[in-house]
Amino acid sequence: MQRRKKLTLITDLAALAIIAIALAVSMAWSRDIELKLGLLYYVSAADVDEKDIVVLEQKTDGVRVSASGSDGGLSVHYVDVGQGDCCIMELPDGKTMIIDGANRFNHHKTAVMDFIKNTLPSDFKYFDYAILTHADADHCGSLDDVLNAYPAYVVYRPNVKSTYAGFTDPGADDLLPYHDEASSATYKDFLVSAYKTNDDFTPQVIVTDATDDTQTIYGGDGDDEYTLTFYSPLYANGAYSDANNYSSIMIFEYRGFKFALSGDAEKENEAEFVAKVESAKTDGVTDKYDVFTDTYNVNVIKAGHHGSRTSTSQAFLDVLTTESGARSAYYIFSCNADDGNKYGHPHAETLDRLKAMGVPDENILRTDRVGDITLSVRVDDNGEYSLFYGDNASKPIEPDDPPELPPCIYPEVLIYREFMGIKLKWGVVAWSGYAALVIAAALHFVLTGNGGKSANGKGRERK
Ligand SMILES: [Zn+2]
Repeated sequence: MQRRKKLTLITDLAALAIIAIALAVSMAWSRDIELKLGLLYYVSAADVDEKDIVVLEQKTDGVRVSASGSDGGLSVHYVDVGQGDCCIMELPDGKTMIIDGANRFNHHKTAVMDFIKNTLPSDFKYFDYAILTHADADHCGSLDDVLNAYPAYVVYRPNVKSTYAGFTDPGADDLLPYHDEASSATYKDFLVSAYKTNDDFTPQVIVTDATDDTQTIYGGDGDDEYTLTFYSPLYANGAYSDANNYSSIMIFEYRGFKFALSGDAEKENEAEFVAKVESAKTDGVTDKYDVFTDTYNVNVIKAGHHGSRTSTSQAFLDVLTTESGARSAYYIFSCNADDGNKYGHPHAETLDRLKAMGVPDENILRTDRVGDITLSVRVDDNGEYSLFYGDNASKPIEPDDPPELPPCIYPEVLIYREFMGIKLKWGVVAWSGYAALVIAAALHFVLTGNGGKSANGKGRERK
């Protein structure tokens, strides 16, 4: 009888332990369980009320210390980093973004770090977004130092696998077909810093995929909304022979003003983008490439591959601007032919192409000539939003009316499935189930485990 009592006690305790473990699992992985069970599902943000949204795709967690610019307005800084690329954006909602991080030598690193220290607020701690266009050292060289000092909540990395000896690329499973490989320590160092967990958060690292509309970056509200959209690479003919083509053509838009950036994308990448835009005009499918109508105008175009003759092709420019728009747009060249660059960027062919289009000299801005270049979109003396170059000289460009964006470029969001108006939440269902089980087990424990010693002597074991 004693043995049986002991056995009952053990099974009761085991049952309670199982319930406790199940409860702990439910609490820890409730979001994953909800997703697996289909209680949470993705819909386009355009289709749901904001109150129903559970998690935004681009949600960033952790302590946030915002940079300046939260009063609205946009500043886009093309930092003079010698031969290389680095663009830092102060976004209208106070968030910050860095696109590429200069070459790897000390003077490059100093250029980026000093710019951040001198331009962003003294309490600046984290970038909201970091984008690396491709794995070349003149883009990722100092980005590891930047991210070690100022980690980014969300990092977009190129579709390039690190094959550095002895290193396992932490995002290898997320890579897309036709990915490239890079064996440099510089790229490996970038990946290490990008994925590194810090005191406040673990960064969300995304392999840039222009075919995935949920990767579009959104921010701001209403009229203050901004977007950054990825349009390439498209891998139309599979993998690229040139590593530069793994760069993405990106367009940032705010209050109708548009900024195009494309890393070192070459004419193959540009041509695939142009072909996609052309086919979008007649394919009857509503998608993000439909915005490139005959009146589409990008206001600031960063010349691809530091102004190399192999980028910024005429066909590409023709998609980005109208004939008259091309003449009023700014063209940024991030280059320095004297900074260990045997290619001599920018090439005369690219500059001549712009000249032939009627672009005035003052609209061609080169970091090797003018140093850091800042363009901003803010309210002018007439109370209208205008595009400014520099602090004083104001040169507003009238934007096109922003086109109606197709619905698919809204981010996907998670909402709860409903049954008869009740949101089906795993936590509520599971926890009430566990509560019932705990009460049942406790009752069972009292009735059987305690039975032999009960005061009135009516315990079951007496029989
Ligand atoms: Zn480059």
